[in-house]
Formats: sequence, structure tokens, C-alpha cells
Amino acid sequence: MVAAVRVHRYGGPEVLTYEDVDLPPPAPGEIRVRQTAIGVNYIDTYFRSGQYQAPSLPFISGNEAAGEVASLGQGVAGFAPGDRVAYVAGLGCYAAERNVPVAAAVKLPDGVSDEDAAAMMLKGLTVEYLLHRSYKVRSGDTILVHAAAGGVGLILSQWAKHLGATVIGTAGTEEKAALAKANGCDHVILYRQDDFPARVREITDGKLCAAVYDGVGKDTVVQSLDCIRPHGVLVNFGSASGPVENFNLGLLSAKGSLYVTRPTLNSFTSTRETLDEMAANLFGVVASGAVKIAINRRAKLAEAADIHRALEGRETTGAIVMTP
Ligand code: NDP
Repeated sequence: MVAAVRVHRYGGPEVLTYEDVDLPPPAPGEIRVRQTAIGVNYIDTYFRSGQYQAPSLPFISGNEAAGEVASLGQGVAGFAPGDRVAYVAGLGCYAAERNVPVAAAVKLPDGVSDEDAAAMMLKGLTVEYLLHRSYKVRSGDTILVHAAAGGVGLILSQWAKHLGATVIGTAGTEEKAALAKANGCDHVILYRQDDFPARVREITDGKLCAAVYDGVGKDTVVQSLDCIRPHGVLVNFGSASGPVENFNLGLLSAKGSLYVTRPTLNSFTSTRETLDEMAANLFGVVASGAVKIAINRRAKLAEAADIHRALEGRETTGAIVMTP
């Protein structure tokens, strides 16, 4: 038996249940990991609430963690017990131990701690594809990053600045704005009180942005289009305020032949080659100091419900890491 946090029915944070569960031996192609650090991500709340459907109920929450390989399933090569690994692996991470498809695991270099890895695999690999693959940010570009003080936001803002972009961020409070400014944002807009498209127009002298990175969704997407220059790109990568429904494609022509994409990390990491390349890029910018991983909240697995309340209540900044 291992300690885990399971969801038996979809609902609010209270449905996260800390309990002991059976863990079978690793199947062929899997490794068993004794987890030391577990990342918390906004996507965990979508699966808990039912906005995203799990394959079956009950399920163990969580999509990102790090730890030490305990044993190997049949046919696993290239990994050995004792290796330090991290992964983004569909559900099952809110647990003391889990079995992980070896295809998702990356060995950790000495300079990267388990805690940092758990804080950055899902968020940092996401930022890697957002900045290099969804839209290729070039030096001199101006971009807008929503929720710039969040887990993804702080990494995105620092990395984009490192690439030579001018970064405009949005944030919900003065404190979050100050944090975003200290982490790569040249300008920060308090989007709960200010008209953010008007501020972007002002800041850019009417030239607007090459791309907008919008993980907020419902509350911001349509106005985000007003921040993009002709032929620019809207990257809607999340929906912290609710999913975007009934999007009118005609808006893209009205605003100047814009492009829109709704990407997901799995589609970029589906081959070992790309996963390794993206992880190497991420570990590289972290090792060089260009991107710092801010773990601004720590908790025990048993406190998962409180952590979800804080995340959905917009109380958190940077990454959150839990320990078993
Ligand atoms: P964050 O730490 O960014 O938390 C979400 C933030 O969104 C809040 O802190 C808040 O910041 C802002 N927000 C705006 N409106 C709301 C609202 N109504 N309710 C709650 N929060 C709101 O979370 P993550 O870094 O984990 O994820 C950020 C986004 O990226 C999410 O939408 C997530 O789904 C997405 N994502 C997508 C991936 C992909 O591959 N497509 C992969 C990883 C993440 P503020 O107070 O400043 O407004």
C-alpha cells in the first residue's frame, strides 16, 4: 500500500481524498518511482472538477513529479534502480510511489534538485514549446503574457526576456505585478482594474504584440486579440478562468489576419527525441541562471485540498511542490 490522493467523484477541492492504495508491480515498459517531490499544476484542478475527464473513477491526481527509481518493469533499458528521474505523466502523481511509463521519464542532471524538477517539468517544458514551437519568439519581439506571476508565467517571462523579447505581463495584484517585474517583465498591467488592450496599445505606441500567451481563457481571450499586430499569433494554452467556447473565427480576419492555436504539451513530447531535446533546453536555461525556478509554496500530500483552494483562489505565485 502507498499513500495517495484520490478523486472518487468530480467536484471541489474537498473531493481530494488522502488514503492508502494498492500499487501493483511495474508493468512491462514501466519504472517504479519512490517520489520525493510532486508538482502541482492548474490542470490538476480541471481533472478534479471534471472539466477534463479522467479515464475512470476513482483516479490518483497529479501529472508531474520527481524521485528515485525503485524497480524496473520487464524490457526497460537505459534506467537503473537509484537513478534520479522526473516526468510529466498522465495522472497518478499525487502519491508516495507510482509506476511511470519509461517513455515519459527523464534522468536528472546533478545540478537539478528533485524539488526543482518537480516544479518545472510540466511548466518548463510547456514554456519551451510555447516560446520555440507554438510561436517562435525572436529578439526584438514584443509579447504579452497573462498571469505572469503564476507557475508558467514566471518561467515564461524570464525565458522570453532571455531570448531578447520585450515582455508585457498581466497580474491580479500589486504584489504579483512586482514579482513579475522582478522576473523578466518589462511592463506589468493590473488586468483586474485596467483596460489591458488599451494599456498594451499605449505601451507599444500602437504597434501591438507579435504574440499573446493566454492561459487565462474565457475572461481574456477576446480582448487578447486586440493586443496582437496583423498576422500575429494568439496562443491560448489554458483556461484558468474557464474554457473558451463558441470562438468566432471571423474575429481573426477583423483584427488583421491573426493566427490562433490551442496547444497541449503531450503533442510536443510524444517522441523520445523531442522530449529529450526540450528537457535539455529547459535544463540549459536553468543551469545558466537565465531562468530561476520559484517554489513559493510547499505542502504535504495530505494538504492537497488546501493547495487546490489556494491555486483556484488566485492566492499563489510561482510553483507549488508537495512532498509525500
Ligand atoms: P498559475 O500559477 O498561473 O495559476 C493560475 C493563475 O491564473 C492565477 O494565479 C491567476 O493569476 C490567473 N487567473 C486569472 N483568472 C483566474 C480565475 N478566474 N481563477 C483562477 N485563476 C485565474 O497556474 P499554472 O502555472 O499551473 O498554469 C497556468 C495556465 O497554463 C493554466 O491555464 C494551465 O491550464 C495552463 N497550462 C497549459 C499547458 C498546456 O500544455 N496547454 C501546460 C501547463 C499549463 P492572477 O491573480 O495574476 O490573475
